[in-house]
Amino acid sequence: MLASLAPRSDFPLLAANPGMHYLDSAATSQKPAAVLNAIHEFYATANANPHRGAYALSARATDLYHDARATVARFVGVADSDCVVFTRGTTEAMNLVASSWGRANVQAGDEIVVTALEHHANFVPWQQLAIATGATLRIVELTPQQTIDLEQLRAVVTTRTKLVAITHVSNAVGAITPLAEVVHLVRARSAAVIVVDGAQAVPHLPVPFDALGIDFYAFSGHKLLAPMGIGCLIGRRALLESMPPYQFGGDMIEWVRDTECTWNVIPHKFEAGTPNAADAVGLAAAIRYLEALGMANVRAHEVALLERAEERVRALPGVTVYGPPPAQRSGVLSFSLADVHPHDLATILDQHGVCIRAGHHCAQPLMRRLGVSATARASFYVYNDERDVDALVGALEAAQRIFAAD
Ligand code: PLP
Repeated sequence: MLASLAPRSDFPLLAANPGMHYLDSAATSQKPAAVLNAIHEFYATANANPHRGAYALSARATDLYHDARATVARFVGVADSDCVVFTRGTTEAMNLVASSWGRANVQAGDEIVVTALEHHANFVPWQQLAIATGATLRIVELTPQQTIDLEQLRAVVTTRTKLVAITHVSNAVGAITPLAEVVHLVRARSAAVIVVDGAQAVPHLPVPFDALGIDFYAFSGHKLLAPMGIGCLIGRRALLESMPPYQFGGDMIEWVRDTECTWNVIPHKFEAGTPNAADAVGLAAAIRYLEALGMANVRAHEVALLERAEERVRALPGVTVYGPPPAQRSGVLSFSLADVHPHDLATILDQHGVCIRAGHHCAQPLMRRLGVSATARASFYVYNDERDVDALVGALEAAQRIFAAD
């Protein structure tokens, strides 16, 4: 019996629902008490508007917010914590780059490269940037195992390419992108800026931003045990400094005169208004929790669960599993059962206490290429164990009996 990596008792929601098999962590993760307590502690002992007051309480809030940024920087291998911009999540981070860097640098005749594997958050901002600027959107197709076709990427990237937006890990099928190869290939052919969607990578793999040699990287806290509403954009200093602000208001300015402004230094230039300090503190607590588990152990645990789940699910009649083999995926098992709509399947599984995702996973370009409107997706994380796999397989067998009887 494969035990969970993190005790289920650390997660109040799971502890309160012993019959629940939560297999939807790719959508959002459950939160440990350590994170909930850190948020409570911020409001109970340090609540003041950061950067605004000369009094000790405000200084404490400011210090906690800065410590949170330093914790993120350490976790994702960024030496210069000023290069970590807090956002609401991956979606806002991508919109920030598209609006700020994109509007300032992309024009008609340029090309923007995305892949068919992207979540809408890393597809639509670039599609809309192309429409607004007259640039051309080029879409890299996939291999039969739904990994990014690197030969296609090689063919598509040229000196006209201004930006390559690519996912580190697919949310829909779990495929892990070999980023080092992508960077090598793009750099050899273009001066393009490389933007990476790390929403499904940072929770599951060690991510060394500085060593990757990319330009921008985005992720969302809520997928790595942290609260919703906090995430990060990481960028290279020279790029962030060259970019115009994304939003205007308090904190992001240096001086405001009647007819003009000067901007604050990074990261503040991109953090207009009162920051989400409490959730940044929650994110730091989640990172410390994951660091204590060890990201190599997190990865190994997910692969072990995935391999067991995949072997048993594949043995069921009429199953199609999407994506490359488990060793090349994060903890995502995306599949369909012949003649059963994924939504019906998810509803029946819910009656067995098994929470899975059914739908297009905000990846409609990929679904179209798979020739389906939706898949069923089970995703594993640190609090899952082999009983969750047993429950998934048992519930799938029950669903098959129901549909066979129809
Ligand atoms: N990119 C990927 C790969 C995702 O899985 C998600 C969320 O599901 C996002 C981007 C968007 O993240 P958020 O909704 O937290 O901004």
